[in-house]
Amino acid sequence: MQEKWLVTGGAGFIGGNFVLRQVLQHNRFIVNLDKLTYAGNLDTLAAVADDPRHHWVQGDIQDQSLVTQLLKQHKPEVVVHFAAESHVDRSIEGPQAFIDTNIMGTFHLLQTVLAYYQSLTDKQQQIFRFLHVSTDEVYGSLGDTGLFTESTAYAPNSPYSASKAASDHLVRAYHHTYGLPVLTTNCSNNYGPYQFPEKLIPLMIDKALTGQALPIYGDGKNVRDWLYVEDHCRAIETVIEQGRLGEVYNVGGNEEWQNIDIVHAVCECLDRLKPTSNSYKEQITFVKDRPGHDKRYAIDSSKLQNELNWKPKETFESGLEKTIQWYLDNQNWVERVKDGSYQGQRLGEDVKQ
Ligand code: NAD
Repeated sequence: MQEKWLVTGGAGFIGGNFVLRQVLQHNRFIVNLDKLTYAGNLDTLAAVADDPRHHWVQGDIQDQSLVTQLLKQHKPEVVVHFAAESHVDRSIEGPQAFIDTNIMGTFHLLQTVLAYYQSLTDKQQQIFRFLHVSTDEVYGSLGDTGLFTESTAYAPNSPYSASKAASDHLVRAYHHTYGLPVLTTNCSNNYGPYQFPEKLIPLMIDKALTGQALPIYGDGKNVRDWLYVEDHCRAIETVIEQGRLGEVYNVGGNEEWQNIDIVHAVCECLDRLKPTSNSYKEQITFVKDRPGHDKRYAIDSSKLQNELNWKPKETFESGLEKTIQWYLDNQNWVERVKDGSYQGQRLGEDVKQ
């Protein structure tokens, strides 16, 4: 029988990649609930817009009556929770939306999903899973050495990471208090197709291609671990299928890179794939650092690798090349984000509702 999963935030970057994979590669029926904030983009879902395996619903995870109705109607075996405000700089300028969606939204979703879970038969309860997608930023910042493990104490430093930390704790509490079968993944920085050009890698690709300065915060020595989005999606599938209930799994690419080296790698790849008379590196410039900018994140994903046999398929170099090629081939997607026309689909003129 075809599996039915409910995905929140499936018009965003990672959720969109995840929905496309589930429908097109795994033949799953996906109920896709997304509020369509500025970060939601129906262009990303064009390949499944008319697919009977994709049920698109514009709505808020805080809307308990809508979510209850969707759960009753479709009876999903799995809920995968991506929906969030996700941009650190935006959380510094305006934290309210992060509190509303990431904390209150997750709370309302948990309440609704718990009531649904309690209405299932024993057999259905044994199958049901709630997977919460989170970030390694909840662990704070590292010095020059060490790695975040699943037992690292939480020490979030931005309103974004603090709100995600709160949501992780709520998810954990719903398992321990009410027995909801939850799984949590804490992942490092993702990159890949369909990422908005406000995030580092697509921002640099876009600025390079349009002849603008490539701005680097501070000295560019901040370190992040990077994972290709498809590897993250595969990790989530693995945890849903094999993860131990109530457990947390760190997900990372074992690819620690300084920001300056990322920008150099983007420029070198563009020099190869779309050469001009000058190297794109000449466009690099340094700007004032972001307040509270965490120095280093690095993640130990050996639990996921050893227990569940997951490992990333892409290296940073191979994933970056795929990503840059995708942006070169999909300039129309980028242009529609930049000029705002992607939001014209909000009322569903050309995408099935
Ligand atoms: P994104 O900002 O691209 O997408 C978020 C999606 O959620 C958007 O489509 C938006 O419309 C939707 N949304 C926001 N508020 C909503 C609400 N109240 N109700 C319903 N939908 C709502 O984010 P992303 O980069 O795809 O991240 C997805 C998840 O993965 C987030 O939970 C994020 O914390 C986590 N994560 C992201 C990264 C990364 O590098 N991007 C790394 C680790 C974890």
